[in-house]
Amino acid sequence: MFEKILIANRGEIALRINRACHEMGIKTVAVHSTADADAMHVRLADEAVCIGSPLAKDSYLNKAAIISAALITGADAIHPGYGFLSENADFAEMVEEHGLTFIGPTPKMIRLMGDKITAKKSAIEAGLPVVPGSKGSVDTIEQAIQTAHEIGYPIIIKASAGGGGKGMKIAFNDEELKEMYPIARREAKSNFANDIVYMEKYLQNPRHIEIQVLADTHGNVVHLGERDCSLQRHNQKVLEESPSPALNKEQRQKIGSIVCNAMKNLGYSSVGTIEFLYENGEFYFMEMNTRIQVEHPVTEMVTGIDIIQEQIRVANGAVLDLTQEDVHFDGFAIECRINAENPETFIPSAGKVTTWHAPGGLWVRVDSEVYAGYVIPPYYDSMIAKLIVFGRTRNSCLMRLKRALEEFVIEGVQTTIPLHQKIIAQPDFIDGQYNIHWLENFLKKQEEIKREEETSSQSGEK
Ligand code: ADP
Repeated sequence: MFEKILIANRGEIALRINRACHEMGIKTVAVHSTADADAMHVRLADEAVCIGSPLAKDSYLNKAAIISAALITGADAIHPGYGFLSENADFAEMVEEHGLTFIGPTPKMIRLMGDKITAKKSAIEAGLPVVPGSKGSVDTIEQAIQTAHEIGYPIIIKASAGGGGKGMKIAFNDEELKEMYPIARREAKSNFANDIVYMEKYLQNPRHIEIQVLADTHGNVVHLGERDCSLQRHNQKVLEESPSPALNKEQRQKIGSIVCNAMKNLGYSSVGTIEFLYENGEFYFMEMNTRIQVEHPVTEMVTGIDIIQEQIRVANGAVLDLTQEDVHFDGFAIECRINAENPETFIPSAGKVTTWHAPGGLWVRVDSEVYAGYVIPPYYDSMIAKLIVFGRTRNSCLMRLKRALEEFVIEGVQTTIPLHQKIIAQPDFIDGQYNIHWLENFLKKQEEIKREEETSSQSGEK
């Protein structure tokens, strides 16, 4: 087993990886920017190296500085976490060239899945169901119109190098397509320095359901069920749950085995997530994330499997010690992403956390780097905590979540806790009746109610 792992990340995921390593008897090295010198991941690691100034490009994205830190401290492997360099094939290659292990899949696999067009082609070849769409890139407006007529409106134009839900354009007819196609290419160029776009049928009311897999380098693959991540704002996940309220055991087994076969066909190793849109009982492959994901804890809660420890073991060449029959799904888990933001305007709220009291009790997990007195730096993602709860039934899980959100005290900055409290009180959410548009529609309605209240109170004052 590795003796020392360098964690090339910050925040809650750096702490999460640190915990997994210490429980396996592995020493850790934290890296940090000058803005994170007092961070908890730095305090809890066995060693720490400052790798640059606050901006991510100068520190957490500074490949040479991270590799130097690993070599100086004698680490055997680098865990990239999520975001930053976790899906950067060049970095994974550099790590290997320096005789270190990159805890993730091969650089070739990262590259294949990082480009959406090659990812979709590989998914089709591996046997995954995909959204009907263009064969490859769509290079001219004439080709765009022809493709739209073949697959039928509405369509969505997506950037091949895309990510983070940016630069996607929807068209319902030829006219809209003529207008949107050049805009999509321009936005792809400015966001991703690559103006190659492709087209897909636009599904109008799908859910986002993803399958977690775990694969070793010896051809063994298991799936750990699904996560329903349909609650999104601007294509960013807000709350995730497992199992999905939309799937039963047979459907889970069916899509799980399709995915496992596809991963075997691809020769995939490490943890990974295959994201699908799900509508009218059908799954449509969207993309694959070749790294650990923010929402992995809900899967850990319902399977009892430490996904990061498994990821480290398979990176070290171990044979998976689980077969599909060993994976048992038990109960219900929900995760709320708590951001330091105004819960109505979503404007980031950096600054000092004056009071911090995290909820506890049975089956409540809080993954966070925050402590009382911690100053949230303005340079990074605004997620400051993940609250994950488990219940034997979905109802008990919801009741526990309600209780835990009430118990959470964070002062000094604004957080999205009130938003989560509102979401979980909605009948649609309680009934599991939601799709990828539900949250944005809900927020729009909330805004309208607020505006009406303001108008009526103003007219009352007159
Ligand atoms: P990114 O990598 O930018 O996040 P994805 O391909 O994962 O892009 O898509 C992000 C989100 O965009 C999805 O979760 C979904 O809400 C929406 N989306 C993507 N493709 C389609 C489609 N064909 N039909 C409807 N919505 C889509």
